[in-house]
Amino acid sequence: MNSQSEGSNPSQAGGIHDLVMDLFNALSAIKQLSELDCQIDDEALLVKQALTGLIQYQDMERCSFFMLDDLGCLTNLAGTSIQESLQVVESVPDTPLTFKIGEGIIGAAAATGELQYCRNCLEDPRFERTTDATPPGSLISVPVFTLNRQLIGVLNVSHPQPFYFNDWHIRLLEIYKNILGQLITSQRLVRQMERRIASRTAELESLVAETNQLKEHFASMSMHDQLTGLHNRRFFYDQVEIVVAQHMRYRNSLCLLVLDIDHFKVVNDRFGHLFGDQILVGVASALKRQVRSTDILVRFGGEEFVLIFTNTASESGKVFGERIRQEISKLEWKLGGQKVNVTLSIGLFCLAADSYSDNLAPDIDEMINCADAALYQAKANGRNQLVVFDDHIVRGD
Ligand code: GH3
Ligand code: MG
Ligand code: MG
Repeated sequence: MNSQSEGSNPSQAGGIHDLVMDLFNALSAIKQLSELDCQIDDEALLVKQALTGLIQYQDMERCSFFMLDDLGCLTNLAGTSIQESLQVVESVPDTPLTFKIGEGIIGAAAATGELQYCRNCLEDPRFERTTDATPPGSLISVPVFTLNRQLIGVLNVSHPQPFYFNDWHIRLLEIYKNILGQLITSQRLVRQMERRIASRTAELESLVAETNQLKEHFASMSMHDQLTGLHNRRFFYDQVEIVVAQHMRYRNSLCLLVLDIDHFKVVNDRFGHLFGDQILVGVASALKRQVRSTDILVRFGGEEFVLIFTNTASESGKVFGERIRQEISKLEWKLGGQKVNVTLSIGLFCLAADSYSDNLAPDIDEMINCADAALYQAKANGRNQLVVFDDHIVRGD
């Protein structure tokens, strides 16, 4: 170290070569500090690395950092010595040392905001002996601030020899504590930003999840009939294209049935609209129980349902449809001691496996018209029956 002041460390005896070495070591310590990564998560680890650089490049015995907490207490966060830095041993004890502001040399540095140099710790009354350990000979405590002059803590360097440190050390520590303060400020800002980003991300994620749920809810609502819970007309047109495409690809037959409750207006008129609703719900769930999961069943509107039996020829479709008609006629509701039954009229149109010669997709509305024409015939024949569409039935398109 340079020889202009009181210190008596080894380099004082040297010449220009020692001065250059001191300068080189000081710059190396600062360079090491400037290279620390402020994205390190753990503040104690960051400070420990900063202290290790100081010990490595400077002829100091021990150095430590006391962090100021919210209660105004300075607590030993990290510390290292030449021996420890060589052996890489954790040097902060289980119960770290603490000082109040104003207490001891460390507390004085915090209280005054100025560097404190205790030249001879054994004789300086300001030096507080907090442990039985042998006190150092000399100690420098220097307060470390954030960029906006908030006290972060106190950096301390010590040496067993009294009157050891000189102006050179003091200058270096002034620079060192500035960079350390900037580093800790940056690290805190990075962590603060990370926390904000994490909380914003969590907020956004929950918002996206909520939006998706709402989307699913509305998508499902738009595909379902609110009263009966069956799929609706929109779903029918959505799905029927797939069914028809499969029919064309695999040349399977399919049956489309239009089912209409007979004289439902009379039911409403006699028992009330709400009771009519109950009947609609009951008919819908009975229909649902009798169809396969591959079939398409929708409430097409009012008291009318449309059903597609996939992969089903006309004869089977007729048998399934008949069974459904009979099951519905067996249902019974009671109102004021009166039994209420309903019947279904059904029109069936079958798209046979060989029903097309070219690759033109069948027209859905045309298919519905045909089933409707058969239904009209069933109504005309006296209701509560199933009629299969054939060429003798006049379509109502
Ligand atoms: P038909 O045998 O010829 O089919 O006679 P219908 O009375 O069933 O047919 P119409 O078309 O004359 O009347 C249908 C009735 O269905 C009238 C309407 O109020 C009732 N309706 C339609 N939607 C609902 C509903 O959601 N709830 C109730 N309760 N009634 C409904
Ligand atoms: Mg009807
Ligand atoms: Mg109707």
